[in-house]
Amino acid sequence: MNETGLRILVTRRWPAAAERYLAERYDATFNTDDVPLAQQALSQAFDDYDVICPTVSDKIDAAVIGDAPRRTRLLANFGVGFDHIDIQACEKAGVMVTNTPGVLTDATADLAMTLMLMAARRAGEGEREVRAGKWTGWRPTHLMGRQLSGKTLGLIGFGRIAQATAKRAHHGFGMEILYYSRSAAPKDLERNLDAKRIASLEELLHASDVISLHVPGGVETQNMIGAPEIASMKPDSILINTARGGVLDHDALAAALKSGAIRAAGLDVYPEEPKIPEGLTELENVVLLPHLGSATEETREAMGQRAAANVDAFAAGAPLPDRIV
Ligand code: NAP
Repeated sequence: MNETGLRILVTRRWPAAAERYLAERYDATFNTDDVPLAQQALSQAFDDYDVICPTVSDKIDAAVIGDAPRRTRLLANFGVGFDHIDIQACEKAGVMVTNTPGVLTDATADLAMTLMLMAARRAGEGEREVRAGKWTGWRPTHLMGRQLSGKTLGLIGFGRIAQATAKRAHHGFGMEILYYSRSAAPKDLERNLDAKRIASLEELLHASDVISLHVPGGVETQNMIGAPEIASMKPDSILINTARGGVLDHDALAAALKSGAIRAAGLDVYPEEPKIPEGLTELENVVLLPHLGSATEETREAMGQRAAANVDAFAAGAPLPDRIV
């Protein structure tokens, strides 16, 4: 039933319930092959659809959006991060953009903890050893890692996901919490986590045993963690990135992991996904996950519902709950 007359394009497969919800209400087209659309197809979609529901694998740049007024009026993004969308070009072209904040916070914080534990406890190395048939049995000095309990966690960016990670790390693992962020967190939150805001990035890097990145991607945070910042980290420290690949200089990271300048790293995101930056896959002391931050059934369904709620508001001419521009 499509009483609104709205044509909607969903660029990748969504969980079945979320696709069904849109199909029952709108003239919705789904990318049943689940192959990312080429730039030309994305551009064409701006002439053919009223609403596009893109996600992180779609590069919606100024060339795709175009200058002249076109049919698309809303990009209801599936995901909280929107650095793959040229927001200024959208604003200029009168295209509204929404995202799905909050519903993926817990899943992504869980994954940051997964990476911390895997990197600290050498879980990837151990799994590779078992699968390769190379495990020779228990011994007192086998694959000794470090424990998180009592260590200091330095969070860079202190929004929703960083705070949820801090809760898990502090209340679950007894970690001391430091954070570096543009704005201070509410005092009661700081008290609850016994968290301290550190004014200088260098000081935070010096003081932390584990560093976890939680700022959005984009020009402002491009290579925020490069060779000088990695050089400020403790030699025994662990770097975790569940934010965006562009935030980190991967050449500098690979060099530091190889030379032992830092102990280990855990990565979920990369600058040109699905390409893994050179020099990492051959290293044992880096955990490499394929952008799994929000990948739980519960969360992906909630993300679909949240994106659909923005489409519904648009269809009803109501204020958009998660409007960015
Ligand atoms: P959020 O609540 O908006 O938090 C972002 C934090 O970054 C805030 O503390 C913000 O500070 C800070 N920040 C923003 N721009 C900055 C800049 N230019 N320099 C320094 N700090 C800056 O977002 P969130 O929900 O926690 O999500 C964070 C990011 O995680 C997303 O943008 C996304 O890229 C990534 N993510 C990844 C996955 C995954 O699958 N791996 C899943 C979900 C999200 P202010 O408060 O001062 O603005």
